[in-house]
Amino acid sequence: MKRIGILTSGGDSPGMNAAIRAVVRGSIYNKMEIYGIERGYEGLIAGDIKELSVSSVSDIIQRGGTMLRTARSTHFMEPEGFKRAMDMLENFEIEGLVVIGGDGSMRGGVAISKTGVPVIGLPGTIDNDLAYTDFTIGFDTSVNTVLSAIGNIRDTSSSHERSTVIEVMGRNCGDIALYSGLCGGAETVLIPEVELNINSICRKLIQGKNRGKLHSIIIKAEGVPVSAQELADVITERTGLETKVVVLAYIQRGGTPTGRDRMLASRMGYRAVELLRDGNDSRAVGIKGSAIVDYDLEEALNMEPVYDSAINELAEILSI
Ligand code: ATP
Repeated sequence: MKRIGILTSGGDSPGMNAAIRAVVRGSIYNKMEIYGIERGYEGLIAGDIKELSVSSVSDIIQRGGTMLRTARSTHFMEPEGFKRAMDMLENFEIEGLVVIGGDGSMRGGVAISKTGVPVIGLPGTIDNDLAYTDFTIGFDTSVNTVLSAIGNIRDTSSSHERSTVIEVMGRNCGDIALYSGLCGGAETVLIPEVELNINSICRKLIQGKNRGKLHSIIIKAEGVPVSAQELADVITERTGLETKVVVLAYIQRGGTPTGRDRMLASRMGYRAVELLRDGNDSRAVGIKGSAIVDYDLEEALNMEPVYDSAINELAEILSI
């Protein structure tokens, strides 16, 4: 393998830059050329591709977002756009590709790999919704951003003796809610993996109030099928507690990556280089326990998510 391409696609996540840096420097260290493709599959179709050097990735390990920028591309999913993307890979003599992104981006990688170009997928998404890996790049930073917000909200909600529903991201995966709820000492955590029970939420809030609790934090994952405002209205109606709503939204996607995310990104990025250097077919890189692992790309995406109910039970027990 003489020349590798790299792109970031889908939603950005903190740590993508650290992953790019690892792939760029790892490639150069292993005597391979590395080409950066801007704006994901959109930039591939447009030919926005340039060679990267050791200094191209200076001063980015600590930055959120992605220096290559990112996009969602419907054009790539149409035959004409896909063909143009493949022509660009050929024009630039790119022999292997590293795709950093979520489930959709990796499925795009599978489509490319079926033409014979090896693709290595790195899990870059805050959602932690890829079943084949314990953690995705950006998840830890996002949880820490939510924790910081919970701290701020706690200050004001205890002063005013309020309850607050905080909605967090994660699509259909409740991990951001679960981890930030447990670590932030939330009274209640609502995730899509567990059926919503309004009665038990209200009962817990009233019991807390009767014990002298000045405020309550309810963390709701965005995938739970009720809006934060609807939930707050029902709580106020049934308990008499003043309940505010905070939807954290995109602040969870930005910010300087945590040490954990930079470590994950650096280790995964370098594994991607090793896999291409050693002539492997398409693979998805992940982490299991503390070990960096890799699986066949398509098989990895077909793995069924396993919901770890023990963390939810612990959050319940510790928030009595
Ligand atoms: P996030 O989890 O942060 O949203 P993602 O990678 O899942 O990231 P998507 O918007 O689902 O984000 O996918 C990014 C891009 O990947 C799409 O805009 C499209 O160009 C490409 N893509 C998605 N699904 C497929 C597919 N099944 N086949 C080919 N390309 C795909």
